[in-house]
Amino acid sequence: MIAPSKVKVEPGKLHINGQFIDAASGKTFDTINPATGEVLTRVAEGGAEDVDRAVKAARAAFDAGPWSRKLSGADRGRLLWKIGDLLMAQVEEIAELETLDSGKPITDTTRVDVPLAADCFYYYAGLAGKIHGETIPVRGPYFNYTLREPVGVCGQITPWNFPILMAAWKLAPALACGNTAVLKPASLTPLTALRLGALCQQAGVPDGVVNVVPGSGSVAGMALVRHPQVDKIALTGSTQVGQQVMREASETLKKLSLELGGKSPNIVFADADLEAAARGAQMGIFYNMGEICTAGSRLFVEQQVHEALMEKLIERSKKTIPGDPLDPKCRFGPQVSEGQMNTILKYIGKGKEEGATLAIGGNRARVGEGKGYFVEPTIFTGVSNSMTIAREEIFGPVLAVIPFKDLDDVIRQGNETIYGLAAGVWTKDIKKGHRVARELRAGTVWINTYGNYDSGMPFGGFKMSGFGRELGTAAVAEYTQLKSVWVDLS
Ligand code: NAP
Ligand code: MG
Repeated sequence: MIAPSKVKVEPGKLHINGQFIDAASGKTFDTINPATGEVLTRVAEGGAEDVDRAVKAARAAFDAGPWSRKLSGADRGRLLWKIGDLLMAQVEEIAELETLDSGKPITDTTRVDVPLAADCFYYYAGLAGKIHGETIPVRGPYFNYTLREPVGVCGQITPWNFPILMAAWKLAPALACGNTAVLKPASLTPLTALRLGALCQQAGVPDGVVNVVPGSGSVAGMALVRHPQVDKIALTGSTQVGQQVMREASETLKKLSLELGGKSPNIVFADADLEAAARGAQMGIFYNMGEICTAGSRLFVEQQVHEALMEKLIERSKKTIPGDPLDPKCRFGPQVSEGQMNTILKYIGKGKEEGATLAIGGNRARVGEGKGYFVEPTIFTGVSNSMTIAREEIFGPVLAVIPFKDLDDVIRQGNETIYGLAAGVWTKDIKKGHRVARELRAGTVWINTYGNYDSGMPFGGFKMSGFGRELGTAAVAEYTQLKSVWVDLS
């Protein structure tokens, strides 16, 4: 049985210049609960005209300076802190809304997504008053100093796998630095970003500083990318969309940060704590139903321990049972949409076709009335790095297990990918762990752990996983311009 929800889901409106309004076209789209396949509510569908209105509001708010100039960093910080508090005050309701819209287990949305979103606002609340330039000792009778100024209007485009958390990663640093924003959430999961926009308003963020415009990527997203009054685009999404955004943004030479796909290697050496490695491998691929850009989707296992590790991993994975995401005991919900489920099932077919061995899973799972988009946790062994399931990002609960000979072999294979987002290494040998961390071309490496995040850490990719860093003090560089000022002292 899929439990009925307690939250009343209101229809979604565009949030522009402090108003909650319909789209200029009057169009709406349905957002669906992937656990049941039922329509949750309708949401106003922003088009180019709405994006233009939102950008003009953000531009006016930026240029008039109620946010960037009239408020000090510390004042902005106080408002950001309040947004964090408002999120935490409604954690249960927002978590439920997130679970309904995305299928993420309620225990995760309650304990991870919403609290981490709040934490991101708390982190940047603290940083907002500490963003400053430097004085530079230059040659000659001159005084030189730098100013860190906000970039201006930021277009922010988010994916559906961590809807409120990605919105927080985008908005909090942008606001801390004094920018204004137009956020376009993913069409599959627009509800919590709209709620976050409303909370920003409730906290006292001036009108026009935060605008949220749901709508399709190819229309509303593209309109934002092309808009001449937008100064920067931050996108979290697929590599393919990242390439398209970069091409289009080149017309107006916008500042860009792109957080894109991954095919991360999770490497288990024979000297590892195998129990811990099995747990890390299982969480690495099945957390969030595999819909996570840092998923440890290629598990490299040193030959001698292949059998022992697989035994432990399969035993654990069999306990990962698809279930009702509103059940607090559920750790594994549906995929986000029917389309995503079908893509995953197609990849599973490809794995079989190309000769990998299906160790567990491989099918759609039936939960409750069987209308939800559930896929069984799936593990393929005997995979080679050249197979499609080892090369392409599946964004689902499908693990490719690849044996390796030695350290050099696994570094070569680990790096043999177009992506470079994350990696894991399991070993008791401290030298080996650090050496592998250095040699892997990836933005994050976890040693004897997997999937940790913190608002203070820089996060982003190498290679075709994108560029730019979110979170931490690193994000300040993405959301500011550096100005150099010279003064004649002679
Ligand atoms: P996606 O199709 O790239 O969509 C991401 C966002 O971009 C959505 O809001 C989407 O709108 C929008 N979009 C689509 N086409 C666009 C266009 N032509 N111009 C402007 N915006 C456009 O990716 P997804 O399917 O939502 O998410 C899965 C992907 O995101 C995976 O590849 C995953 O690796 C990546 N991801 C990366 C990270 C990271 O931090 N590196 C984190 C999470 C996810 P619509 O929803 O309307 O299509
Ligand atoms: Mg939905």
